Amino acid sequence: MSVQLNSLVSYLDELLSSNEISDYCPNGLQVEGTSTVKNIVTGVTASQALIDTAITMKADAILVHHGYFWKGERQPITGMKKTRIKALLDNDISLIGYHLPLDVHPQLGNNAQLGKLLGVDNIEPVSGVKPKGVLMRGTLAEACTHQAFASRIENVLGREALGECVNDKPISSIAWCTGGGQGFIEQAVEAGVDAFVTGEVSEQTIHVARECGIHFFSAGHHATERYGVKALGEHLSEHLDVSVQFVDIPNPA
Ligand SMILES: [Zn+2]
Repeated sequence: MSVQLNSLVSYLDELLSSNEISDYCPNGLQVEGTSTVKNIVTGVTASQALIDTAITMKADAILVHHGYFWKGERQPITGMKKTRIKALLDNDISLIGYHLPLDVHPQLGNNAQLGKLLGVDNIEPVSGVKPKGVLMRGTLAEACTHQAFASRIENVLGREALGECVNDKPISSIAWCTGGGQGFIEQAVEAGVDAFVTGEVSEQTIHVARECGIHFFSAGHHATERYGVKALGEHLSEHLDVSVQFVDIPNPA
């Protein structure tokens, strides 16, 4: 039971159409390890804790949403970055990362998965927002109060959301963007939905919510982005001859 590293990466590149999406980091193979892959560990972020767990689990590759080499970051491989990359290379473990391509994939993406978990119907991308699928919209079968929707998020994600209840209007339509998507609140307002859900919050997000009358929920960057890479891993174990395990390294942010 194994797959060649280069065929695994080509399979993922094609599945996620990664060449068609411009991003803030390289998508695909970021650090090269052994050429034969039997065990893959998936996780949200290629932190030291995830690498250490992957070493214990004898992984040949780590597949993540948040990899390395972000635009604007310091380039030298020193300090924390050196320790992480050395651990990967010493253990012959590849690092494979997909950022925006894994947010926007229509079935396996973070946005698609979160919409499904929250029980949203009529899911579609908000038109005109690029890349397509980074901001999604949909409707709820039954309109609910701000508090009821906050409880739904808490049940699904296992953590409380920071919410801003802006009026008595029930919520029947929502837009969402997982992770650090708070900047999309204005496009959510333009889309005319009742509520906007994302991972993070900025000080100004609350003012936009209040002044534009849109219910707001920040449910955690990590918590909202666990499900894309998890679904991608499940897809790989169904379609390729590899064993895949998702490892959650909790993060309150
Ligand atoms: Zn993210």
